[in-house]
Amino acid sequence: MPNWENNVRKVVPYTPGEQPKIKDIIKLNTNENPYPPSPMVCEALDTMDRDLLRRYPDPAASMLVDAIAEHYGVTSDRVFVGVGSDDVLAMCFLTFFASGRPILFPDITYSFYDVWAELFRIPYETKSLDENFRIVNRDYYPENGGIIFPNPNAPTGILKPLEEIEDIVSRNRDVVVIVDEAYIDFADGRDGEIPAGSALNLLDRYENLLVVQTFSKSRSLAGMRIGFAIGSQKLIRYLNDAKYSFNSYTMNQTAICAGAAAVRDQAYFAECLGKIKATRARTQKALRELGFRFHESQSNFLFVTHEKVQARELFAALRKANIIVRYFDKPRIDNYLRITIGTDEQMDALTAFLKEYLSRQS
Ligand code: PMP
Repeated sequence: MPNWENNVRKVVPYTPGEQPKIKDIIKLNTNENPYPPSPMVCEALDTMDRDLLRRYPDPAASMLVDAIAEHYGVTSDRVFVGVGSDDVLAMCFLTFFASGRPILFPDITYSFYDVWAELFRIPYETKSLDENFRIVNRDYYPENGGIIFPNPNAPTGILKPLEEIEDIVSRNRDVVVIVDEAYIDFADGRDGEIPAGSALNLLDRYENLLVVQTFSKSRSLAGMRIGFAIGSQKLIRYLNDAKYSFNSYTMNQTAICAGAAAVRDQAYFAECLGKIKATRARTQKALRELGFRFHESQSNFLFVTHEKVQARELFAALRKANIIVRYFDKPRIDNYLRITIGTDEQMDALTAFLKEYLSRQS
């Protein structure tokens, strides 16, 4: 028997949230933004020179990189862009976690981290969140090969205070520390401004700190696939070296144009964030009244458990009513639902359904 299959790199892939084909569903399962992208994005796409599609795109994606750099007040050589933050993060794993020592991340976190570690054969150790789902700083003090965690964490939505993040970074100056801020724009602060809790505020002090963000949530562009990292010039140079050794043209021309336009529309960005934060506050109140428990969310989703009814049952009942939320059948979190914040109307439909359903249970 030929044994070519023994020579195949076998992976257990990440399972993305469902993208159902049915119409008329309330889709609260993948933390998409319920509002359309900025009108400036549509205009940029309408007026984009079609001849640009015939040519290869700018491998440095300068128009997008420069727009991000300007928005965040850094030089362009401190910005790296990729096809969604998944692409940026995968590139980071490949580039920065090469020591052979185990990298560290929480046991309950974005479930792509262990997949990339397995794919790239990077040893890793997970560190348990405490009973309140908090990351425990001292777990990240021993020698390691690098550190990554989201802030706010996913799927808990809990924001770790900036002093605690700085504590981890400052004790780990010999490795790269990556803070995955996919949801940071929804954290407290003036809408659309860099939240005080963002690790972007630490970058000038730590050459080994990399902050990764995405256009998929706060900028309503999940379908366009744009993510970015900001860090020291050295980190960005290493990331670009790996990228150019893998695929020079990661960003397509359409994404470059759309992304640059999205960053420039600050007013629309702030307006959408304001609406989502207000809906989050209303929804938290309504769910609390229905007997749900959860930690204060600083993201565009809630991670909730009910005092009487099992999450698995609620997930199935909601699904039947065409309301799709996310359920993770995993230890410690298998009695929780992760619910994306949609529009007020969508959240009203969700809470009305739950109210009715729960009243039938008692
Ligand atoms: N990080 C976290 C914590 C996420 O939840 C997600 C969304 N699944 C991502 C990164 C990746 O998002 P994207 O590739 O759309 O930028």
